[in-house]
Amino acid sequence: MKMEELLQKCPVCGCPDKKVLRKIQDEHRAHATTKGIICEECGYEFKPKKKED
Ligand SMILES: [Zn+2]
Repeated sequence: MKMEELLQKCPVCGCPDKKVLRKIQDEHRAHATTKGIICEECGYEFKPKKKED
């Protein structure tokens, strides 16, 4: 997850607040994979960017 992805505003409602969904497999481990990012306001799901223009 890049910082710039967390800082970008929602393209739908312009809200800068987001929820980061994490998939936690074991609470005793510090191992959690990021499942996705959704807009706190409208629930828009941010897609991870690929390196291609
Ligand atoms: Zn939104």
